[in-house]
Amino acid sequence: MKINHNYQKLPGSYLFSTIAKKVAAYGKEHPEAEIIRLGIGDVTLPIAPSIVKAMHEAVEEMGHAETFRGYAPDLGYDFLREAIAKTDYQRLGCEVFADEIFISDGAKCDCGNIQELFSAEAKIAVCDPVYPVYVDSNVMAGRTGEWDETFGRWSNVIYLPCTKENGFVPELPKETPDLIYLCNPNNPTGTTLNREQLKVWVDYANAHDAVIMYDAAYEAYIQEEDVPHSIFAIDGARSCAVEFRSFSKNAGFTGVRLGFTVIPKELVREGVSLHSMWARRHGTKYNGAPYIQQKAGLAVYGDEGQREIREQIRYYMRNAKVIYEGLKKLGYEVFGGVNSPYVWLHTGERSSWEFFDELLDKAHVVGTPGSGFGPEGEHYFRLTGFGSYENTVRAVERMKGL
Ligand code: PLP
Repeated sequence: MKINHNYQKLPGSYLFSTIAKKVAAYGKEHPEAEIIRLGIGDVTLPIAPSIVKAMHEAVEEMGHAETFRGYAPDLGYDFLREAIAKTDYQRLGCEVFADEIFISDGAKCDCGNIQELFSAEAKIAVCDPVYPVYVDSNVMAGRTGEWDETFGRWSNVIYLPCTKENGFVPELPKETPDLIYLCNPNNPTGTTLNREQLKVWVDYANAHDAVIMYDAAYEAYIQEEDVPHSIFAIDGARSCAVEFRSFSKNAGFTGVRLGFTVIPKELVREGVSLHSMWARRHGTKYNGAPYIQQKAGLAVYGDEGQREIREQIRYYMRNAKVIYEGLKKLGYEVFGGVNSPYVWLHTGERSSWEFFDELLDKAHVVGTPGSGFGPEGEHYFRLTGFGSYENTVRAVERMKGL
């Protein structure tokens, strides 16, 4: 018996466990310190009332023979697929149809699983720094070559540096990738690609037969007009892009679990429809997102749901603004925070971890070292707007003393 040795290649995700260990040790040594956690990528506000109500009603339906539901349709209930197509796409002028939407239990699973549609030889390109799931899921599939400890990179991956020097806009690579992962707004930098910048990538993918894996998990935080809410707002995207969306960050479903993936029917490679492949994959390996969750998802698109979730997003964005503007005033170089709950700051001479230690020790504030998201994240640091307003204000106050 042989195991999949690609798993052994993973250097291990030490980032959040190292943070937890360091914070626990500090707390033990300094029990008087009131630690504020602004490193979290998880939401903190409770699910909005109209959505909770819809969940209660769905639970009640499950308790009666006439309304009980068993297995959900593999690809999702039509009521939700139609609401998504109408509200998230057609209302914005994007050509996406209900039967191109695949409901799932979240964007993480989908953007981790999608790579199985492609050959083991497919070469991937990723922004650096970025959400680690894209690379790690390809490591597991054996697509990434060897890990180089010194540079913190895989030998067979095309890295697209996103730093303050290039305005966090990845340049087109010299070597042609098969799969291009774009996260917009980006986690961890909180920065975005505007329409024009995204169009460059769509044109490139179409010209080079590549496929863009577009993660729009933070779409709801976009405030600026020229940042597209979907890659399907860009001409030509239907023949080169897959889009991942989540209910986690817009409606607080991190613990409820619901998301979806859009695969247009025009997306064909080697004469094969990726839409059909993903439908087949869903049918074989997935038994459908639960009815209760999908009813909760439908409530997100109701008038009340929309009003409530916008209020929550405003709350987090107010926190992001407090961090962004507060740190700017203190003389930090800060990025993101405008179309994203994430604020990305430059740590100057100090490494990401040195800054982490100093922030914890002197301000009792916890953030996330940028180096955990890729080698180009070194000398950067992520703070998030997902805490409480009061703690966010206090954290920035404390940073004045640094
Ligand atoms: N995509 C990005 C860029 C994320 O940052 C996250 C979560 O932090 C996810 C996807 C996960 O989304 P979900 O909760 O729907 O699995």
